[in-house]
Parts: sequence; structure tokens; C-alpha cells
Amino acid sequence: AAGAYAFTGPAPVALRHGRAGALSQRLSMAATIPKVPFSGVSPTGPSGPTLPAPGEDLEFLEAKPYWDQSGVQVNIAKQKNPLIGKIISVQRIVGPNSPGETCNIIIDHQGKLPYWEGQSYGVVPPGIDPKKNKPYGVRLYSIASTRYGDDKTGKTTTLCVRRATYWCPELKAEDPAKKGVCSNYLCDSKPGDEISLTGPSGKVMLMPEDDPNMTYIMVATGTGIAPFRSFLRRLFGEGNPAGKNFKGLAWLFLGVANKDSLLYDEEFQVYLRQNPDKMRLDYALSREGPLNKKGGKMYIQDKVEEYADEVFDALDKGAHIYFCGLKGMMPGIQDMLRGVCESKGLNFEEYLEGLKKKGQWHVEVY
Ligand code: FAD
Repeated sequence: AAGAYAFTGPAPVALRHGRAGALSQRLSMAATIPKVPFSGVSPTGPSGPTLPAPGEDLEFLEAKPYWDQSGVQVNIAKQKNPLIGKIISVQRIVGPNSPGETCNIIIDHQGKLPYWEGQSYGVVPPGIDPKKNKPYGVRLYSIASTRYGDDKTGKTTTLCVRRATYWCPELKAEDPAKKGVCSNYLCDSKPGDEISLTGPSGKVMLMPEDDPNMTYIMVATGTGIAPFRSFLRRLFGEGNPAGKNFKGLAWLFLGVANKDSLLYDEEFQVYLRQNPDKMRLDYALSREGPLNKKGGKMYIQDKVEEYADEVFDALDKGAHIYFCGLKGMMPGIQDMLRGVCESKGLNFEEYLEGLKKKGQWHVEVY
């Protein structure tokens, strides 16, 4: 099994799924994938999707009406007075052939740091920053669970953290003296460890739930999956009112290095199988192929470009598009969109400005 985050079912059978071709997809999957019990019992362990039990009502953390974002809070806890949470679990969620390590980290916040899907937490690593001779500053992490937490108590938060390492070109090896402070602290933490939290922060990545017919286009690289894992769980993995009313489309594009680096794929396959008309899932595996149409590595922008007509059509009809992951993803994305605009006789700057003005463009990169 790939890493500690092992799925008891078989591996995904294809890397492209969704509405188009959904029937053949379903037919080919039906033969190989056993039915996942719809019992509220997680098929993937403590951090896996706990699908809604029949008739489940998860409402105790909803606004009234549930889409009213006027009460969304930020900065309940600040660095000077952080909330002391407790680590519940740390699980490596990538396979052995993934370059680098990514962990799923569940934290108990005792219900004292409530958040909405799309927000982030801050983590204050312990110790003194030798460069500044004062305590280390806050690092932000996008929240990967819904407001209810993976255990649905409303008291936990899940983070998806990649261990930052430094590859020294002279040593031709990792230099432990230069490894990232907070990501290593988090990935090395143990159940029961106390952790200083700030936040929640950010409102740019919230979901416009007032329209149950919304199309969400989510574009992630690596740990940029975190907010979208939260979105998909909100839409398909719980009995909350937004999920129950959802009649739109959630379309995820995820770019990673190879199959072993896919994140939360087991859950996404469950959602996809149970909501074939409301979800699409497309992966770009840059180091593994297939190649892009120019014969080069398949990066996230190449995968989105394959569906440019459908994406532009959806945006014309009011879809919201979200980007999350490393900063380096945006130039490629923007160049691709510029090219598509030119081929359609559109002015890219005006087009982008229009999306921003209408609140359809959401970016959180780091
Ligand atoms: P730092 O100690 O801050 O070091 C930064 C980098 O410098 C590391 O790569 C380190 O290896 C390198 N370095 C250290 N010393 C040297 C040196 N002497 N010479 C050269 N290089 C050196 N990250 C996630 O993993 N998941 C998320 O969901 C996530 N969400 C985010 C959301 C937002 C809104 C933002 C702003 C950031 C997010 N991040 C996320 C990034 C995260 O906040 C941290 O920046 C990241 O974990 C690195 O922090 P660190 O303390 O480990 O590294």
C-alpha cells in the first residue's frame, strides 16, 4: 500500500474521470471496486471520508441561512495569545516513490478555533529564530477538513503539510541545517503534543454556497489540494445542508509529480463514484506522463488547457475558479489562459479583470 494512508480498496483504475465518459468509467469501475459501506464508517481510517449516513443531519455549525458568510470570523487567536491545540494524528499520505513527504495532520482545537471551508490556520513553531534572535513567526496552512473536522465533532482541524527540505547542490544531498522549521516540526510531531495555533485566516477561498447550482473549478498543485479536499468533503462527504442541496459541478484539477504523490485520491474516487454527475477529476502527473499535446511534461496548466473550451464556457456561465499551491504555478496558468483568450479573440487582461470584478477568481498561492 502507498504510505500509511492506505485504502483498503483497489487502486484507481484511470486518471481521468467525470461527466464526459462517466458511463464507461462507471462500467469499468463497477467491475473492480467493491461497494463502499454507506454507514458513516470511514473506509480509509481516521482521516478518510466518513460518508453521510442515510438521513444524517450535520447542522450544528451552520449559519442561518447556511450560506450567510457575514459571521465568518478571522484571527480569533493571534500570535501573542495563540490557542494551544493538541496533535491527534500525523500520517504520511504519499507513497514510497513520491519525491518529498506530505503528511495529513489532525489537530484538536477543542471547538475554540472555528473556521469555514477555505480558511487557513497559523502555526507558531517553538524556538528562537537565530536570524532575528526572537521567537519564530507564524506559518500559515490551508485547512483540509470541513468546519466539522474529519471526526464531525466540530473540534478538530486537518492540515496537509509538505516537509520543506533543502537540497544542497554542492553536497548533492539534503542539508538538515537548512530544512524548513515549521513543516518539519509539524511532520515530526506526535499524538498528544501541544501546538500553538492562530487564526483562522483568509476569506478569499470561501465557497459561494448561496447558489446550489454553482460550478466550482479547483486547480491545485501539491498541498494546494488542502482547501479543495475541504470543499469536496463539504459537498459530498457529509450530511450538511450545502452538500444536501448541491446540484452543481465540482471539478478538480490536481498536479503532482507522480501517482505516488496523489493526495486524498481514495476519498475523491469514492465521491466521484457516488456523484458522477456532480464531480469531475483530472490529474496532471508531471514526471510520469502522459505527455502534454506538445510532447512535453504534463503540468497543471496543460491539463486545464485540454478542457479550455469547457472551462471558459463554465466561467461565462458564472463558475468560480480557484487556484491553490506553490506560487510558481500561476505564471504557467496565466500564460495558458492568455493563449486561450487570444485564440478566442478575447483580451486576456479585460477577461481576467471581469472575472475578478464578479468575484469568480480566487487565488491562494505561497
Ligand atoms: P522555513 O523554515 O520558513 O524555510 C523556508 C524554506 O527555506 C524551506 O524550503 C527551507 O528548506 C529553506 N531554507 C531554510 N534555510 C535555508 C538556507 N539557509 N538557505 C536556503 N534555503 C533555506 N504549506 C503546506 O505544506 N501546506 C499548506 O496547506 C500550506 N498552506 C499555506 C497557505 C498559505 C495562505 C500560505 C501563505 C502558505 C501555506 N503553506 C502551506 C506554506 C507554509 O506556510 C510554509 O511556508 C512552509 O511549510 C515552509 O515553512 P517552514 O517553516 O517549514 O520553512
